[in-house]
Amino acid sequence: MNRVLVLGGGQLGLMMAEAAARLGLVVDRYDPERALLLPGTSDLAVPISWEECLERYPVITVEREAFPDSGLSADLANSDRCVARGALAVIPDRFTQKSMLDKLGIPTAPWVTLDKAADLNAAVEQFGGVVVKARSGGYDGRGTWIVGEGGDLASVPASELAGKAIIEQKIPFRRELSIVGARSISGETLFYPLTRNWHVDGILRLSLAPANATAALQKPAEAMLAGIMEELDYAGVMAVEFFEVDGQLMVNEIAPRVHNSGHWTHEGADWSQFDLHVHALAGVPLHAVNVHGCAAMVNIIGTPFESAWLQHPGVVHWYGKDYRPGRKLGHANLVADSLEGLRAGLDAWADVLPDGYQAVLESELALVD
Ligand code: ATP
Ligand code: MG
Ligand code: MG
Repeated sequence: MNRVLVLGGGQLGLMMAEAAARLGLVVDRYDPERALLLPGTSDLAVPISWEECLERYPVITVEREAFPDSGLSADLANSDRCVARGALAVIPDRFTQKSMLDKLGIPTAPWVTLDKAADLNAAVEQFGGVVVKARSGGYDGRGTWIVGEGGDLASVPASELAGKAIIEQKIPFRRELSIVGARSISGETLFYPLTRNWHVDGILRLSLAPANATAALQKPAEAMLAGIMEELDYAGVMAVEFFEVDGQLMVNEIAPRVHNSGHWTHEGADWSQFDLHVHALAGVPLHAVNVHGCAAMVNIIGTPFESAWLQHPGVVHWYGKDYRPGRKLGHANLVADSLEGLRAGLDAWADVLPDGYQAVLESELALVD
């Protein structure tokens, strides 16, 4: 089998198509909202029905978690060609996602459902600080309201969210980490080292990999991701975001797809997460990945392209998307022998990094096993 269909017309599918070409495999992309097939890395779109796609492609994967406007969700859930069907039935709704984590005994932020507005006050009594999250449709911090201890609850549209949100305890984490790994159709698994992530206003700004001082955390992280992939009978790349609290990992959320915090693998490893995703689906036996020193990934958010960036250290990946304030438009990957070695390169990128990224780097450098 050498032909995979990815649902979604964005940059993640494009990166899968590029990776596929390295081994002569084919990933075509299907934009369900426009019923257009985008062959490989070409933008020459072909109108085609979803039914015809289902016939034509033996393996179907996704670059997004939900397809609310296209009516595909039920078809995907029922098609044994869709390697993410188990994940699509569970992950897009935070209620079913958190319930699965509880069932698997995987630590996650304590939570309750927001069924009526009064549940919010009760959760504050119970948890102190809370994070309210829409059950579905949120990303990049949209659909998330963080209310610290004694914070202003009026900012949360509790009546509007009743029946459609969960409330989590606000976790005083030391840092945010993630793991990206792959599972093949035959159930073999492979993982990258834990990555440290820094979010601002709910949006990932900076990733550093391998994260420092994770010797005791790597295996537990791998075991959690492996357990989740097995439970969902998933094939391809999946990511789990964690909070590190008191030297332990707690799952924040699961992303059943290639993930922004794994973008560093393009330059930071010999095989990227996009390669692994395609190999896992196309029946290429899973193989070792070598990581090259340390990598940083800087997200470029709401800033139009500047050719001067090409003079900076690192490699720019630009998605060619329309400009919108707050939108992820591209990223830059930097690789060095050590975290300290990334500093000069990151300084060159400081204008697209928010104030304070140096503090993250300092704290990472200060961490010891
Ligand atoms: P993504 O774009 O990663 O899909 P999202 O919109 O789905 O993001 P989350 O990852 O759930 O949202 O939350 C965004 C960020 O908000 C987290 O990375 C973290 O910084 C913060 N956050 C979320 N939940 C909690 C919590 N329970 N306690 C403390 N901080 C939290
Ligand atoms: Mg999310
Ligand atoms: Mg997240």
